[in-house]
Amino acid sequence: MKYVLVTGGVVSGLGKGVTASSIGLLLKACGLRVTSIKIDPYLNTDAGTMSPFEHGEVFVLDDGGEVDLDLGNYERFLDIKLTRDNNITTGKIYQAIIDRERKGDYLGKTVQVVPHITDAIQDWIEKAAQIPVDGKPGPADVCVIELGGTIGDIESMPFIEALGQFSYRVGPGNFCLIHVSLVPVLNVVGEQKTKPTQHSVRGLRCLGLTPHLLACRSTTALEENVKVKLSQFCHVPKDNIITLYDVSNIWHIPLLLRDQKAHEAIFQVLNLQSIAREPDLEEWTSRAETADVLHEPVRIAMVGKYTGLSDSYLSVLKALLHASVSLHKKLFVDWVPASDLEDATAKENPDAYKAAWKLLKGADGVLVPGGFGDRGVQGKILAAKYARDNRIPYLGICLGMQTAVVEFARSVLGLQDANSTEFEPCTKNPCVIFMPEGSKTHMGGTMRLGSRRTYFQVMDCKSAKLYGNKSFIDERHRHRYEVNPEMVGRLEKAGLCFTGKDITGRRMEIVELRNHPYYVGVQFHPEFKSRPGKPSALFSGLIAASCGQLESLLLVQGQGCESNTKRIHPMTAGAGAGNNIDPSAPIIYQNGTATLELDGIYSLCNGVH
Ligand code: GLN
Repeated sequence: MKYVLVTGGVVSGLGKGVTASSIGLLLKACGLRVTSIKIDPYLNTDAGTMSPFEHGEVFVLDDGGEVDLDLGNYERFLDIKLTRDNNITTGKIYQAIIDRERKGDYLGKTVQVVPHITDAIQDWIEKAAQIPVDGKPGPADVCVIELGGTIGDIESMPFIEALGQFSYRVGPGNFCLIHVSLVPVLNVVGEQKTKPTQHSVRGLRCLGLTPHLLACRSTTALEENVKVKLSQFCHVPKDNIITLYDVSNIWHIPLLLRDQKAHEAIFQVLNLQSIAREPDLEEWTSRAETADVLHEPVRIAMVGKYTGLSDSYLSVLKALLHASVSLHKKLFVDWVPASDLEDATAKENPDAYKAAWKLLKGADGVLVPGGFGDRGVQGKILAAKYARDNRIPYLGICLGMQTAVVEFARSVLGLQDANSTEFEPCTKNPCVIFMPEGSKTHMGGTMRLGSRRTYFQVMDCKSAKLYGNKSFIDERHRHRYEVNPEMVGRLEKAGLCFTGKDITGRRMEIVELRNHPYYVGVQFHPEFKSRPGKPSALFSGLIAASCGQLESLLLVQGQGCESNTKRIHPMTAGAGAGNNIDPSAPIIYQNGTATLELDGIYSLCNGVH
């Protein structure tokens, strides 16, 4: 296993995550299998309890891990599926050490940062790097490790120490350090200043790490004399100094790295010249270039709570982008703060109210993303009503599905007090209720999380067609509340179709309106599995419907994707595998690669999509 460590210096927010993902992509394009680990030096065990407003979205993995959004970048760029162990936090490491100490595993020894914490970090990295993430058996060739934060942060010290020891543990030729830094451009002459980079490299070296490559963020390409100076002061060969200057979209970053031959420098450090080939980034390049020249607009109103920080909905934005680029549309996202749509705002802040409604009414499609807490919920309900009444394409994700159901119950069933018990615990008409397995006292990791299976109830519906007529799909979840199964009958009678359910048939996964151009709500988060070049089906549906092209998309989908599933009985399915299966169990489905879900709870299902 070869390791590429990416650290950051000078300031935060340099795009270290995108740089590290791009390095991974470049290595993958050279024929290597790549995995990644993100280290977050904060004390939280995972990102699950962190506010998206402060920290950006919480990314959810197949295994239910709630992790830093950078893991989303890795999954999207490298088209891999990571596990919760690919995200290391101080909280996780300390928890493991303290658990061991309480068990008495240290046999009376004093437990210390060095060597106990630092050893645990190194062991974790070595183990996590071995986990296969690309669907093929066996470990990857290269593991890209990104250290969060900036060199010099107090909380990252144990990690720096551990990584210094680790470079020694794995030995020369197996460890390559890339330092991402900033070269600011000052005064009218536009001089590129090297001092901040010099200082941060000095900081790194004081801590026992010397970079092999420098990736310098700057507005324009670094001048030759600037590289010479950096090389001299930082002891990095001039050819190993890469400039990441400003580009029109982030898909150009791997191309910048390739053009400056970053892969060759890395291969030299890691002795990989003999097995790597020239990078093949043809498809990637054409997508990056296409994204630059798109001009036919599609406007999507994003009605959310955290509209002040676009990172709060990063994966949703990326999924919208993947879908619009693949349909050759230029995406415009109009951020509509949900609470500004509410009547109360009309009185308190009429300008904000008018602006919000103007944006909503100017949009081609409406998206209500997931969320927690009651702020803005009424605004989301109004947005769902507006889209339903005016036949505007609508995609509701998780809370966006729940609010669509509440809206329908209020407006169509006439149940004025219909609500989710998350917002009105004593409502007489609870359309959305707390799930039996949830917890109201412990917030970390207690939701219904990760990949769960949804079975289509009918094939003649937009969502099944968009998913290529598969009988089932696996998507990622993160919720505590669900549609009340006791109310489903009444809702269905009034015209709301629950087209996707879990294996028990009691958990509603997809809801649709038939006589509407596109009105879809999903309990899961399809955005987490969207990839550049492989857009999520329901996002493609939203964009196509918003451009009046859903019919033609469905036609293409119908022709291109044959169902890879067939109905089988559990008895037959289990016979060959020697499984002991209850013959009275409900009908389940098996796909071409014989992935089988028996309990309907969790399945790492390669090959379904
Ligand atoms: N708050 C809702 C729930 O817990 C929705 C969650 C979400 O949108 N991710 O069910």
